Amino acid sequence: MGAMGPRKPGRHFFANPGPTNIPDSVLRAMDRGSIDFMESEFLEVFDAARAGLQRVLFTGGEIFFYAATGHGAWEATMVNLFSAGDEVLIIGGGYFSSAWAALSRKFGIAVELMDVDMRTGVTMEALSARLKADTSHNIKALCVVHNETSTSVVLPIQQIRAVLDDAGHPALLLTDTISSLGCFEFKMDEWGVDVVVGGSQKGLMLPAGLAFSAASAKAVAAHRAATLPRFYFDWTAMMERRFRSFTGTVPILPFFGMVEAIRLLEQEGMENVWARHHRLAGAVRAAVKAWGAGNQGPEMYNLNPARYSDSVTTILLPESVNADAFRKLLLDRFNVSTGGGLGVLTGRVFRIGHMGDLNEAMILGTIGAVELAMQIHGLPHAKGGVAAAIESLAA
Ligand code: PLP
Repeated sequence: MGAMGPRKPGRHFFANPGPTNIPDSVLRAMDRGSIDFMESEFLEVFDAARAGLQRVLFTGGEIFFYAATGHGAWEATMVNLFSAGDEVLIIGGGYFSSAWAALSRKFGIAVELMDVDMRTGVTMEALSARLKADTSHNIKALCVVHNETSTSVVLPIQQIRAVLDDAGHPALLLTDTISSLGCFEFKMDEWGVDVVVGGSQKGLMLPAGLAFSAASAKAVAAHRAATLPRFYFDWTAMMERRFRSFTGTVPILPFFGMVEAIRLLEQEGMENVWARHHRLAGAVRAAVKAWGAGNQGPEMYNLNPARYSDSVTTILLPESVNADAFRKLLLDRFNVSTGGGLGVLTGRVFRIGHMGDLNEAMILGTIGAVELAMQIHGLPHAKGGVAAAIESLAA
């Protein structure tokens, strides 16, 4: 609503699965004028941000930053690693894995998108069979979306690594951590991940616009042999720069924000950050299950509890309900913003993001407003979601 629209008093409850709430101290850290990006004041900030991001990723690998969102990091990663006609296997199951496949195909990469049940995610048996069938090792990379933000299904990266190893398959393991990093456990080096694709606007609590890849030595070697055209995103050119990133002007402000955001994460402790996300996600899931009691209301879109997401919950609504009309009511009446359904789930689901700078009171506020909106909208549901969330948080 523009400046002339009705005033929305009180706090805007932002429960989107990215971008997320930006902590005040991060906003303050970025509230400053320009300085030369080769000035020592900025170089120190850049180095601190880069080292901090390596700690958050649990990697000693290369990091390449881009003035872009996640799509830019996908594109940069693919053009740096592959040549036209190279085969890659992308595990399907949602809007983002499909988008990664579509983007890669535009560059002439031969993508096989594994068709999987969107509500449960790929099975390790199916993945193993596919990799073992590739006896001549034509598949150059296995691409995995760690947290499929459209369906809220998390894939087990360590198990996937084990499947690759068990098959004796040399493919690079590429992982999109855009909606998992800073929300739940991810350890790049220990888990044997070759390339990470990430973005600033979710668990890292920053504005959208800074994306990155992290790359193992094996990935950098693959890059040296890859011939897809690239210029702005060229890792070789980047590695020759002081920043080992960017071609052109360095966007300085996000790095001031990143140093502060990582300071906040580390002050809380990464394990505690993950535990908090798990606690708040548990409250949302408890509420959804309470609303769906009696099997006629909303339900968890993800049917695989071992793969529940601690950063987002996709909620399937009864067919009689248009999810976007419901979301509009939530926003217009109660100033609560939630995520919509993507791709084939448009209008069928809404998504509560519970990632980033969030606490119990904020999550209860969102859940309470959702329950209130369900009642007003006449959305079939059982009462007691808020009470169930409180029980879950108190346990
Ligand atoms: N991958 C995942 C898992 C995402 O959640 C998103 C965005 O939400 C993207 C990729 C695309 O990133 P962006 O929208 O920042 O370009």
